[in-house]
Amino acid sequence: MRGQNYSLWSLLKHGFKNHQTWEPAWERVALKPSYDVVIVGGGGHGLATAYYLAKNHPEVGKIAVLEKGYLGGGNTARNTTIVRSNYLWDESAAIYEHSLKLWEGLTEDLNFNVMFSQRGVFNLGHTLQDMRDIERRVNANALQGIDAHVLNAQEVKEKIPQLDCSRSRRFPVLGASWQPRAGIAHHDAVARGFARAASRLGVDLIEGCEVTGMDIQGGKIRGLQTNLGAVRTDRVGCVAAGHSSVLATMAGLRMPLESHPLQAFVSESMQRVIDTVIMSNAVHGYLSQSDKGELVIGAGIDSYVGYGQRGSPHVIEHTAAAIIELFPQFSRVRMNRQWGGIVDVTPDACPIISKTAVQGLFFNCGWGTGGFKATPGSGHVFADMLAKGEPNQLAKAFAVDRFLTGHLIDEHGAAGVAH
Ligand SMILES: Cc1cc2nc3c(=O)[nH]c(=O)nc-3n(C[C@H](O)[C@H](O)[C@H](O)COP(=O)(O)OP(=O)(O)OC[C@H]3O[C@@H](n4cnc5c(N)ncnc54)[C@H](O)[C@@H]3O)c2cc1C
Repeated sequence: MRGQNYSLWSLLKHGFKNHQTWEPAWERVALKPSYDVVIVGGGGHGLATAYYLAKNHPEVGKIAVLEKGYLGGGNTARNTTIVRSNYLWDESAAIYEHSLKLWEGLTEDLNFNVMFSQRGVFNLGHTLQDMRDIERRVNANALQGIDAHVLNAQEVKEKIPQLDCSRSRRFPVLGASWQPRAGIAHHDAVARGFARAASRLGVDLIEGCEVTGMDIQGGKIRGLQTNLGAVRTDRVGCVAAGHSSVLATMAGLRMPLESHPLQAFVSESMQRVIDTVIMSNAVHGYLSQSDKGELVIGAGIDSYVGYGQRGSPHVIEHTAAAIIELFPQFSRVRMNRQWGGIVDVTPDACPIISKTAVQGLFFNCGWGTGGFKATPGSGHVFADMLAKGEPNQLAKAFAVDRFLTGHLIDEHGAAGVAH
């Protein structure tokens, strides 16, 4: 669909033709026998990688994205879309801030409205230790040039009048960190925007194409097996989120990853009462309100590993209780639907953007519960790695060998709750 502004007339015209006449957003093409670069996984990160690769490195040649389901149907379609960059350590703050800067120009860059709304994100503190951690992180952010502020309970109450800040609560609000430039974006629009832009640059987007095996000869990647046939290529980027370790196994590699279900749910639509994003590690829940008026509520990960896109009822129960702790007035709001995704978690809660022992095979994974915010930044640096064969300055710290050398970047504090 070209452009975003449909007149009533064009809606009626296409409606009378059973919506058969819209111009497709991206070209449907058949899988070719060979490509210069193949990206496995057509989620936000894979599509962003393809877009920046085709845009910034046209010399690489012909690119394909292979997606086993439909584009953007994995975690991209299932996440709660929080975008922020106020992480603790320099390495992660730098890559998330790079991403946030790309978000700020993304709608114009893609000529597609990704509905990025910088409505701010609050991370609540409920104990003295929470507040000390918040102060430490905000001070680090100040040194990193990231907008972040420490607010006391009264300042939080002024900005979020609906939040119960009374001292008598089980988890009283003592204050918060606040990043004004943070916010949310529309997950489907992000996938479609990158897909449309990549397709227009000549990238082949192949849906219903599952990678089932890898051809590796002499320590080099030579091709992939798929349910649609074999593909020859000597450069592969795996961006398959919850299924990264499955792909690694095909290459005989073992990634330090665990795949866990992560859930979210939304309420019935109601009048707009929340105009920001509120997260709490201590009560273990977070929420925002969509343009349709639904409360979008995120839960924590299930403690067990698995590939079922569901999650356990007790996690939902715990999260609903957490939200009611913060907003007792929401106890009568009905919940409409719940769903789950599969996130791949690393031991230090930071991603892996890395070369591997197999020449020409690269992995971008381990974004865990927080990769949506990284979509443009991750795609941008991974495209650079696929083009040059080496990590750039932002990606360097995220090489998989940090689990051997011990150079871990522990972001468990910033990623203590699903986000
Ligand atoms: C409930 C929930 C809430 C979340 N909330 C947030 C949030 O608020 N903010 C945030 O920053 N992050 C959040 N996340 C995390 C975020 O969604 C992920 O980190 C991020 O989306 C992962 O990257 P991706 O978009 O490319 O993954 P995906 O969209 O999962 O893309 C990977 C793709 O690879 C495909 N694939 C897998 N195996 C193969 C194969 N063998 N062959 C071909 N294709 C294959 C899959 O079908 C899938 O489409 C949340 C996740 C969940 C589940």
